[in-house]
Amino acid sequence: MEEGSILIKGAKVLLEDLREADADILIENGHIIKIGKINGKAETVINAKAEGLVAVPGLINTHAHIAMSPLKGMVDGLGLENFLKETSAFDAKNSPDMIYNSAILGIAEMIRNGITDFVDFYYGEDAVAKAVEDMDYQGNLAWVVLDNDKTTQKGDPISNAERFIRSNKRNGVNPMISIQGVYAASKETIESAYGLAEEYDKNVTMHIAETKFEVDEHKNKYGMTPVEWLHKYGFINKRLLAVHCVWLNKKEIGMISDSGAVSYNPTSNMKLGSGIPPIYEMHERGARITFGTDSVASNNSLDLFEEMKYGTLLQCVRLNDPNAITAKDAFGFATLNAANFLYRKMDYGIKEGAKADIVLLRKSVNMAGSNIVNDIVYSANPSNVAATIANGKLLYKDGFNERIGKVINRASRYISESRK
Ligand SMILES: [Zn+2]
Repeated sequence: MEEGSILIKGAKVLLEDLREADADILIENGHIIKIGKINGKAETVINAKAEGLVAVPGLINTHAHIAMSPLKGMVDGLGLENFLKETSAFDAKNSPDMIYNSAILGIAEMIRNGITDFVDFYYGEDAVAKAVEDMDYQGNLAWVVLDNDKTTQKGDPISNAERFIRSNKRNGVNPMISIQGVYAASKETIESAYGLAEEYDKNVTMHIAETKFEVDEHKNKYGMTPVEWLHKYGFINKRLLAVHCVWLNKKEIGMISDSGAVSYNPTSNMKLGSGIPPIYEMHERGARITFGTDSVASNNSLDLFEEMKYGTLLQCVRLNDPNAITAKDAFGFATLNAANFLYRKMDYGIKEGAKADIVLLRKSVNMAGSNIVNDIVYSANPSNVAATIANGKLLYKDGFNERIGKVINRASRYISESRK
């Protein structure tokens, strides 16, 4: 019997083509080894049939700042510009211990909510990386770069990002690079960030056109919108995961859609009063749309069920079209689209040989609809998550295991002590 192996018996399985089938699933060494009738043994056996569980691909959160969990509820009611003033005052006093413990709480919330992987956007990613490892989790940790005169980081952000990429040895961690935004990063800083991405073959993520203020300010300064300006220098390219993209004109929609991936954060965009991004248009033009929660300071949850539902409905109401974005589209955004960007050629979804990132949903009374995908997008919530398996590890099954439970309790105590 393979160490750490998991056998899911008699699950309803949501296959790649969104058909449902009855099958067993065997997981070994981080991958789905077999789907079908399986008589073998495994270290952990889950009797999905008896519990009425559906196996679906794990949800992927493509935009978060998980170490901001202590700010939940503390900066509500602010627009982005004032919000950033408050949060950078918090950042200036932050410590690696605080970042580590905050990240533990963020990770716990994501695991609990059926999120199997995420993109984090922050400084101090060494501490987040330790939290990812201590929780047996996985993550794409993008060290943020911005100009030296605009950062609260100690030292030069570009050198910090490079050191993190070179030195990270934590299990489950894939380093990336993030750029705060055109309002905080010069052309030279952005060029250096892309230089690192090329050198180490990493992806880049960046807040782009989040508010009207950002776009107007950039236009006044350079005579171009942020996307036109970034495009002119070749920064809108295949490596980029563009976050927000709320304020785009027709030409910019084309520029972003031709290049690739967008992280749609509907709750954060609503809560900060930023606006509604033209997701329908970008999706139509072939952009790879994904979902992000943003931080709990501007959300206040790490819950992709909410993002899928709100994100879909917002596009429908914006366009007066009940089919602008369908449940099937939204589910694809939260799973396969994000996986295709992050894992490039690695297989994803519930099929043999794919990465074992699986969520088991309990079909409670709120999920008794006729179509599982519509149930997931319109009716499900985190209370339906019975188990979360990320990178082939069972991290949650109707509760955390004893070891992870202790790590979470310690972090919760640390954060509540720090508030006194
Ligand atoms: Zn953000």
